[in-house]
Amino acid sequence: MKVGLKADGIAAVSHPGHVLFEPWMVETGQGGFFRVYTPFWKAVRDRDPGAALPPPARIPPPLAWPASDRLDEWRLGAAMDRGADIVAQHVCVGEAAAAARLDAFIDSAVDAYKAERDRPDLPATSRLSENLTYGEISPRRVWAAGRAAMERGARGAEHFLKELVWRDFAWHLIHHTPQITSSNWRPAWDGFPWTTEDALVWKQGRTGVPMVDAGMRELYITGSMHNRLRMLVASYLTKHMLVHWKVGMDWFADCLIDWDPASNAMGWQWTAGSGPDAAPYFRIYNPDLQAEKFDPNGAYRRRFLAGFDGSTDPDAMAFFEAAPRSWGLRPDSPYPQTPIVGLADGRARALEAYQAHVAAHQTA
Ligand code: FAD
Repeated sequence: MKVGLKADGIAAVSHPGHVLFEPWMVETGQGGFFRVYTPFWKAVRDRDPGAALPPPARIPPPLAWPASDRLDEWRLGAAMDRGADIVAQHVCVGEAAAAARLDAFIDSAVDAYKAERDRPDLPATSRLSENLTYGEISPRRVWAAGRAAMERGARGAEHFLKELVWRDFAWHLIHHTPQITSSNWRPAWDGFPWTTEDALVWKQGRTGVPMVDAGMRELYITGSMHNRLRMLVASYLTKHMLVHWKVGMDWFADCLIDWDPASNAMGWQWTAGSGPDAAPYFRIYNPDLQAEKFDPNGAYRRRFLAGFDGSTDPDAMAFFEAAPRSWGLRPDSPYPQTPIVGLADGRARALEAYQAHVAAHQTA
C-alpha cells in the first residue's frame, strides 16, 4: 500500500505497534525469515517488545480536511441483514472494554489457560483477538500482563504468551510470503484435487456432524469461533469434504469479527496441510472424538446447535434470526440424520487423494 501511495506522490509513514515485533526485526541466524514457529518463539521469548506507549497528547489535524462520507450513511450492517443486531450482542467494543477483558482474564483464567484453552464449553481464553484486530489494545500491553503473571508463577501464563506470539508469527509470514493469502504456501500442493464448490451446507451448519455444525453456527451467531472449532471445521471442509481452503478462508473473512488476514490465512493453510509448519495431512480430526474430549457434557453443542440433545438455548435459536432469509432455515427444518460425508469414509477418501497426489508429484 505504501508503495502505491508513494508512486502517487503521497508521503506515507508507518508506525510500529500492531504486532510485538515488526516482521523484519526477527531473523534467523542466517539473516532470513522463520518458516517454523518454535524457533521463532525461541528467538523472541526473552526479548522486551517495550511498553505500550501512552496516548498521544495531541493528534495534529490535517491542513485541509478531505471531503468525507458520513459513516452511518454507509449502513455497514446492512449486508448482514437481521444478523447484525444478534452479533452486536456478543461484541466487546472499545479500549476500556478491551482493558477490562484483559484484567478479567489475568485475574481469573490465566492460571488454568494451558489446561482448559481447548475447551469451548468453558470461558477459558482471553477473547482479546477482536480487540487486538482493531487496535483497541496494544499487544505490548497484553504481553506485559502475561509476563507479569508468569513472573508471579501463574501456570498458564507462558502458554498464553506463546499463543500471542502465533499472531506475530502470522504477520511475519504474511510480510515475507504475501502469497500465503492466495496460493498454496507449499507449491507441492498445487494440483491437489480440492473443489471450489460453495460448500453451502458447511456454511449453514448443516453437515450433520454436530460439533462442526455447532462451530459454524457459533460463527454466525457471535461473529467468532473458538480456536479448537476453527481447526475442526477447517479440517472437515478441506479433508472430509475436499473443498479448497480458500473457500473456508473467504467465509471466515466474511463472518469473523476478529478477522485478521495473516492469522486467518495461516490458520487455514496450517489446517489444510499446505502451509508453513502445517499440521501433517494425515492428521484428520475426528469431530466426534474431539467432541467427547473437549465438550464432554455437550454444553457447547447445546448452546449453539438447536435441537442437539433437545436444545432450545436462546443462542442456538438466535441462529434462525441471524441466518440469511434466503437460506430458508427455521427451527422446525429437519436436521440431517447422517453426515454429508461420513467420518470414516471421508478420512479414507482424503488420505487416498493425498497419497495419489504425492505419488503423482514424485513421478512428475
Ligand atoms: P487466546 O487463546 O486468549 O489467545 C490470546 C491471543 O493470541 C489471541 O487473542 C490471538 O491474538 C493470539 N492467538 C491465539 N491463537 C492463535 C493462533 N492459532 N493463530 C494466531 N494468533 C493466535 N485469529 C484471529 O485473530 N483472526 C482470524 O481471522 C483467525 N482465523 C483463524 C482461522 C483458522 C482456520 C484458525 C485455525 C485459527 C484462526 N485464528 C484467527 C487464530 C485463533 O483461532 C484466534 O486468534 C483465537 O481463537 C482467538 O481467541 P482468543 O482471543 O480467546 O485467544
